[in-house]
Amino acid sequence: MIIARTIAQLQEAKNTLNGSIGFVPTMGALHQGHLSLIQQARKENDAVIVSVFVNPTQFLEGEDLDAYPRKEEADAKICELAGVDILFMPTIDQMYESDELCIGAPAVRGYILEGEKRPGHFDGMLQVVMKLLNLSSATRAYFGKKDAQQLALITQMVRNYFMDVQIVPCEIVRDERGLALSSRNVYMSEEEKERALALSRSLKRATKMVVSGELDVEAIKIQMLKVLEETDRVEYVAIVDRSFRPLKKVEIGNTIILVAAWVGKPRLIDNIWI
Ligand code: AMP
Repeated sequence: MIIARTIAQLQEAKNTLNGSIGFVPTMGALHQGHLSLIQQARKENDAVIVSVFVNPTQFLEGEDLDAYPRKEEADAKICELAGVDILFMPTIDQMYESDELCIGAPAVRGYILEGEKRPGHFDGMLQVVMKLLNLSSATRAYFGKKDAQQLALITQMVRNYFMDVQIVPCEIVRDERGLALSSRNVYMSEEEKERALALSRSLKRATKMVVSGELDVEAIKIQMLKVLEETDRVEYVAIVDRSFRPLKKVEIGNTIILVAAWVGKPRLIDNIWI
């Protein structure tokens, strides 16, 4: 595995690759969720590039940019064992110059839910993903459904800018109790992790209601909020279609149910696709 820290090193390393390239962008502190993306990329491509970059432009003032967990050595080991060809770990000045040209999230779908709670987050996310997709020359790029709105916006960016890359959505990986894996889970105590299970439990409750024929969005949300009382604070419960348009009735095969809530230090998100 080649570790590239500069754009020049990445370009040189890419010259050693042949065939299709699968690309997995991450912010590091890799866990089983990231690993599942890497493994899928490994299966479906001749070569795999992973990036680890804690992107400053997608963190808002007062968010955990400085405290975000960084585990370069462990990340490199995980990538090496997973058969990654190139691990790209750039510094901020390799990725940005001052007074940059910026990409903006769409005015509606980029500013609801996560975009409403974290205004500007998706602009920074799309900016760095555009850069990384261009740099990687990826045939396919792998993103987790865990960040469902992010995935939808990246898919839209690729469509709107006619970018020549296939975006591959990947299933959410959870621990044995149902907690969606996240690099930020390390901020939680055992007691908080136990309460954090309310997120996945609320999604299970919603799924059960749908299975038993309850399609009314407001009725489902009320039941979800009851389960979510165990969290410290619910930011939103939302039921939207796969393009993030709000729904009144669940449409089987075209619905995402999402939740965001605080438990202890971290703000957690989870969702289920129905
Ligand atoms: P991050 O390092 O948090 O920016 O995540 C990098 C990629 O891994 C994104 O596409 C995430 O959606 C994906 N990811 C993070 N956690 C999970 C998970 N538990 N299951 C599946 N994918 C995940």
